[in-house]
Amino acid sequence: MKHLLEFTAERAWRYRQSLHDRTVAPTPEAVADLRRLDEPLPEAPTDPEAVIALLDDVGSPATMGSAGGRFFGFVVGSSLPAPLAANWLAGAWDQNAGIVVLSPIAAKLEAVAMRWMLGLLGLPPECGAGFVTCATQANFAGLAAARHALLARQGWDVETRGLFGAPPINVVVSEHVHVSVLKALALLGLGRERVIRAPVDGQGRIRSDALPRLDAGTILCLQAGDVNTGAFDPAAEIIPRAHAAGAWVHVDGAFGLWAAAAPARAQLINGFADADSWATDAHKWLNVPYDSGIVFVRDPRQLHAAMAVNAPYLVIGEAREPEHYTPDFSRRARGVEVWAALRSLGRQGLADLIERTCRHAARFAAGLRAAGYAILNDVVINQVLVSFGDAETTRRVIAAIQAEGTCWAGATVWQGRTAMRISVSSWATTDEDVERSLEAMIRVAAGAAVMRDFSPS
Ligand SMILES: *Cc1c(COP(=O)(O)O)cnc(C)c1O
Repeated sequence: MKHLLEFTAERAWRYRQSLHDRTVAPTPEAVADLRRLDEPLPEAPTDPEAVIALLDDVGSPATMGSAGGRFFGFVVGSSLPAPLAANWLAGAWDQNAGIVVLSPIAAKLEAVAMRWMLGLLGLPPECGAGFVTCATQANFAGLAAARHALLARQGWDVETRGLFGAPPINVVVSEHVHVSVLKALALLGLGRERVIRAPVDGQGRIRSDALPRLDAGTILCLQAGDVNTGAFDPAAEIIPRAHAAGAWVHVDGAFGLWAAAAPARAQLINGFADADSWATDAHKWLNVPYDSGIVFVRDPRQLHAAMAVNAPYLVIGEAREPEHYTPDFSRRARGVEVWAALRSLGRQGLADLIERTCRHAARFAAGLRAAGYAILNDVVINQVLVSFGDAETTRRVIAAIQAEGTCWAGATVWQGRTAMRISVSSWATTDEDVERSLEAMIRVAAGAAVMRDFSPS
C-alpha cells in the first residue's frame, strides 16, 4: 500500500504541475481516447498500480483543467494544498461522519469548522449547521427547516403528516433565483413554479420598492451573490420587513456569502445575518475539493426537526450528532477539508483569497473594456459579464476562446443579452494567469470578429 500511495502522489503532483502548460479544456483527442475505458469487466483481479496508471494515463488528459489558475467557467474553485492533502488523509481514515461514535474526529472538526465559519461569515453564533454535498443540498436543507417551522407554528407536523391537507406555504423568490433553489422547492413538495417572483433591478437585485406581499406563511428567498453578476439583494431593507410580516428568510449565498471574510467587501453582506437560514458552498470560493456545501439555520431545532433520524440503536446523547442535521446518514467527513482550509489560511489568508480574486475580476473587466468590449455588470466581487457584440458574435467568440485553450469561460444570458461569464474563484489564479488569459481573450475575440466580416453569408 505504501508504494501505491507514493506512486499515486507522484502522479497527482505531476497532474497539478501539468495544468500550468496544458490547454484548460481537454483536447478532442483526449476525450476521444476515453473509449479505451469501454472494456469488458475483467474476470481476474488487476494490480492496483496498473489501475491507477490507467486512470491517470487515460483520465487526467480528459479532465477539465478547473483546478488550475486559468479556469473561469461557471463558479468553480480549485482545491488549496492543505484541504487536498487532508482529503487524502481522510480517505485513509475512511470515517463514517454521520454518527459521533463512528468518528469522534469528524464530529469535532465539523464543530470547530462550524464555529469558525459563523465568525468569518458574521452569522449568529447560535446557528446549527449541516455539512452537505453542495449548495443545492444546502438550499434543500435550509428550506426544509423553513417548511417545518412555518407549519409547526400553525400546529402542523409536516414530517409526520406530509403536505396533504397542510396549510399553504407561499414562496417568494427573486426573478433571478438560482435554479438550485427551484429544484430544492420541487423536492420539498413546494413546487418549482408555485412561486411568486420578485422583480429585480439591472444588476439582478430584488427591488425593495416592489416586494410582493409577505405573511406568516411565506418563505422569502434572497441571494447573496447572483450567479451571473455577483450582486447582493438589499437584505438590510428587506429582512426587517419580512420578519415584521412573520415570514422566514432563506439566503442562497453559495459563493457570495464569503465576501464577508474580506474587510473591504464585507459591507455587501450588510443585513444578511438577520435571516433565518443560509446555504453556501465550500467547494467554490473556499477552494476545498468536491463535494462540500454547508447549511446554517439560526434556530438549530428547526433544522434538527426536519432532518433528525430515529432508530432504537441510535442513542441520543449530549453531543451534536451530525446525521440529525443533513439529509444523508452515512457520509464522508466533509468537515475535514473545511477545517484544513480555514486552519491553513487563517483569517488573513482567507481575506487575501477573496480580495485577490475580486481584484483579478476587476482587472479582467478593465482590460476587456479597454479593448472595446461592453461589461454588462457592476463588478462588485469576482464575477464579470462581457459582451463581444451581438449574441451570435459573442457565442462564436466564446467557442473560439474555449478551443484556443489558454483559458476557459462559459456563456450566459443576462437580462436578454448573451455574454461570456468570467468567474475568478480559484486560489491558484495569479496575476500572470490573468494577463495571459486577457491577452488570449482579446486576440481570439479580434480574430473571431474578422471571421464574421469575411464570412460569405
Ligand atoms: C453554484 C450556485 C448554486 C448551486 O451550487 P452547487 O454547489 O452546484 O449545488 C446555488 N446558488 C448559487 C448562487 C450558486 O452560485
